[in-house]
Amino acid sequence: MPPASDPSVPPVPPVPPVPPGPVVVPAVPGPPADTAAWAASHPVGPVRDGADAPTDPTVALLLKVVDELRDELVAVRRDLHAHPETARLEERTTAVVAARLRTAGLRPRLLPGSGLVCDLGDTTPGTRRVALRADLDALPLPDQCGLPWASTSRGAAHACGHDVHAAVVLGAGLALARLAELGRPVGGVRLVLQPAEEVQPGGSLDVLAAGGLDGVGQIFAVHCDPKLDVGHVGTRIGPITSASDEVTVSLSGRGGHTSRPHLTEDVVYALGQVITQVPAILGRRLDPRSGVNLTWGAVQAGSANNAIPSHGVVRGTLRCLDVRAWERASEVFGEAVTQVATPYGVEVELHHQRGVPPVENHARSTGLLEAAARDVLGPAAVELTEQSLGGEDFAWYLTKVPGAMARLGTRTPGGRTFDIHQGDLRVDERAVEAGTLLLARVALLASAA
Ligand SMILES: [Zn+2]
Ligand SMILES: [Zn+2]
Repeated sequence: MPPASDPSVPPVPPVPPVPPGPVVVPAVPGPPADTAAWAASHPVGPVRDGADAPTDPTVALLLKVVDELRDELVAVRRDLHAHPETARLEERTTAVVAARLRTAGLRPRLLPGSGLVCDLGDTTPGTRRVALRADLDALPLPDQCGLPWASTSRGAAHACGHDVHAAVVLGAGLALARLAELGRPVGGVRLVLQPAEEVQPGGSLDVLAAGGLDGVGQIFAVHCDPKLDVGHVGTRIGPITSASDEVTVSLSGRGGHTSRPHLTEDVVYALGQVITQVPAILGRRLDPRSGVNLTWGAVQAGSANNAIPSHGVVRGTLRCLDVRAWERASEVFGEAVTQVATPYGVEVELHHQRGVPPVENHARSTGLLEAAARDVLGPAAVELTEQSLGGEDFAWYLTKVPGAMARLGTRTPGGRTFDIHQGDLRVDERAVEAGTLLLARVALLASAA
C-alpha cells in the first residue's frame, strides 16, 4: 500500500514510472558479462539451514517471504558491489534501490544529492516510525576481492560492506511491504538509505538536515563484521564505537637567541608544556571511565640549536569512548591549552576538528535487537561485541532518537577472517538474508511495542 504523504519530509521530485521486472538502470554499465552465469551456478543457501522451525506464525511468514527474496537481494548486493560509488556520488546506487522499492508499490523520497527515505506500513498521522538505516557509499581504494562482481569502477570498492547494508535495508522494506500485503499488521517504518558515511561531515547529518528523521521514534542499523560468523549478531548496550577528533595547537611569539630566552616568547618551551600537561589535565577534568585519550602524533618548531623560533605546532588525536565526555572534551581541551600556554606570553591558535560521537546503543533498543535476532536466527545467534575505536556516523541519529546498531556476522564459519577497509574483503552472502530478517523483525517488534 502506498503510504500517505508525510508533510515533514520534502516532496519527491517527479520520476518516470518504472516497469515491473528486474532492476535496470539505463546508461550505466551493467555487471561483468559472466556475473549472472557465475551467480546462477553459485547460489547462496539459506542462513538458517538446519535450524528449528519457528513457532510464531508472523516469524514463520517472515522467514518464508525473505526466503523468496534471497536470490534477488544477493543479486542486488552483487550489482552494487560491481558499481561502487564514493561519498555523495551514490546516484546509481540510489536509483537501483529506489526503482526496486517502486516496483513494490512504495514511494521512496529522494534526498538532495543522493540517498533516500521511504515510509511504509502504518500511515496513521502522528505514528512514531521505526527507522532502518543503511549507508550507500564505497571507499576510494582498489577492489581486490577477485570475484566476478568485483568493482568495475577503478579505485572504488565496497570494502566496508555498505553494499550489504543497502541490500539488507532494501530487503527488510520489501519483506515488510509483502507482510502488509498478506494482511499482517506492520507499524510505521521508515527506510533511511544515506550517503557518505565514510567522510566527515557524514551523510547522516545531511539526512537530519533534510528532515529524514522527523517523525521517527527509534532507529536501527547493522554493520558488517568480518570477525563474526555469518548468522550471528554482535550487540552491546552503551557505546560500541568511539569518537576520534583531530586537534592542532599552534603557538606564536617573538623568537630570538637561546642565550636570551627572557627577551623572547619561547614557543618551544611553551609547546613542551602543552604536550605534557594538557593530556594530564584532560585526564583529571574528564571522567576516566570515558577513555579520553589525547595523543600527539606530530610536533614541529625551530631549525637550529641556538635559535628560538617564532612559531611552533603540535598535532594529535583526541579519542573518547563516551558521548557525554566527548561533548565536554572540546571545551576542556581549549581551556587547558590556554591556561598552560598563557604564562609564556605566546599567542595560541587552536583547531579542533570534531569527528563523530560514539555510537551509544540504548538499552531497550538493544534488547529488541537481541530478541529479534533470536526469533529469526536462533537462540544462539547473539554475541556480546566489543567497543571498537572506529567511528560511525550512525551516532548522530542516536543523539536525536534512541536506537541501536548490531554487528552483522559475515565470516564463513571456519573460513578466513577478513577485515573491513581492505580491498580483498569478502563477505559470506548469507549475511544478506540474516540482516534482512533481523531488521524486518526488529521493525515489527519495535513498532508494536
Ligand atoms: Zn567504513
Ligand atoms: Zn562502514
